[in-house]
Amino acid sequence: MKISSSCYAIHGLFTLSPWVVNSGFIVGESKTLIVDAGANYLSAQTIFGYATSAREENELFLVNTEPHFDHIGGNCYFSEKGIPIYGHEGINRTSEEFYGLAEEFNKTITSSKRREAREEQTLFVNTHPVNPNHKISALRTTLDLGNKIIEIILTPGHSPQNLMVFVPSENVIYSGDTIIEGYIPNMEDSTVEGWKNWMKSLNIIEELDPGILVPGHGKVLRGNEITKQIELTKEYLIAGIESGKAPTAL
Ligand SMILES: [Zn+2]
Repeated sequence: MKISSSCYAIHGLFTLSPWVVNSGFIVGESKTLIVDAGANYLSAQTIFGYATSAREENELFLVNTEPHFDHIGGNCYFSEKGIPIYGHEGINRTSEEFYGLAEEFNKTITSSKRREAREEQTLFVNTHPVNPNHKISALRTTLDLGNKIIEIILTPGHSPQNLMVFVPSENVIYSGDTIIEGYIPNMEDSTVEGWKNWMKSLNIIEELDPGILVPGHGKVLRGNEITKQIELTKEYLIAGIESGKAPTAL
């Protein structure tokens, strides 16, 4: 859906029940930047379809906000199309990690017949791990999409490689999982040190004071909703830092 004059959000890309993941894109006069690739090849096809229909003649670029597979699984589709993929310099994932995840999906199928038939593979049709071919190490990177300046800003915390995309002229942020809505923040893949960095990353977002924010998961947030979600996330982080435990840890 269109959220401002050049920014779009895509909801409802499936990852693992009950999780759905977001993507989105920003359309300049000559380039379109896609933020996150979805979990698999099929999600990436959907994202590509929306992004190209918004302005067919534009060159496409993709940026991954983090190394978790729900955000990068679709990279293979974009790479097949020769589309440049940007990501944090430390983002690379291995094939073993990827195929291990597919195994986890198999275990979540309740019917033993379906498990034996390996029906989780329907999620991974044509999907294989592809890492970004353009690495980002600067704290802030400015790109021009053609009369549309955007900034990629490093926001470690959820993972050390998290980043976000800021569109200053429209006051829009694509936060990745630094902010998610409708779910308890996923703090399990980080550490107390990481959670402290996450607090600083939330402060960066607060200082930018966006009017619209596309979270990594959940609905698009506007105005006050953003401030409230930042406060809620901070509460979880402070509790985690004090107790040394993620809120969802068993
Ligand atoms: Zn995620």
